[in-house]
Amino acid sequence: MCYRESMLDNNSDVGRYSETDQRLRQLGYRLTPQRMMLLSAIEEGEGHVSAEEIYARVQSRYPGMNISTVYRTLDLLTELGLVTRTDMGGGVVRYHPSNKGQHHHLVCQECGGVAELDDSILTPLRESLEEKYQFQADVRHFAIFGRCARCRR
Ligand SMILES: [Zn+2]
Ligand SMILES: [Zn+2]
Repeated sequence: MCYRESMLDNNSDVGRYSETDQRLRQLGYRLTPQRMMLLSAIEEGEGHVSAEEIYARVQSRYPGMNISTVYRTLDLLTELGLVTRTDMGGGVVRYHPSNKGQHHHLVCQECGGVAELDDSILTPLRESLEEKYQFQADVRHFAIFGRCARCRR
């Protein structure tokens, strides 16, 4: 696909990201085609994608993209709260869109298995932190490490 075509593709996404665009503008940023493309690459990937996977995905459509731009943009999107960054073990940080289902993970350090955890399980923790420390926890896409039921047998 040529550069021109991919630019057109991006423009068709503008409507879908108008809210994101507004948010970025309020903060003094613009939703550039590069940023938009990275965001949609994260959303396409069912979440949980690493920077390298995102890079591989966007490079086919946007050959001008380099890995440091990917890292920088991911930092920005994380800072703006549009994506979450979670260490899911194995030395790999994974990104997940913030607007998709609030959940957490149990990561087994023995077999590497990952289970999904409903956000409601952290409600008591949030309440205790608020009550005891007057601390408002921003716990999004959290990974808890340990040993799964199968490995404990
Ligand atoms: Zn997740
Ligand atoms: Zn296990």
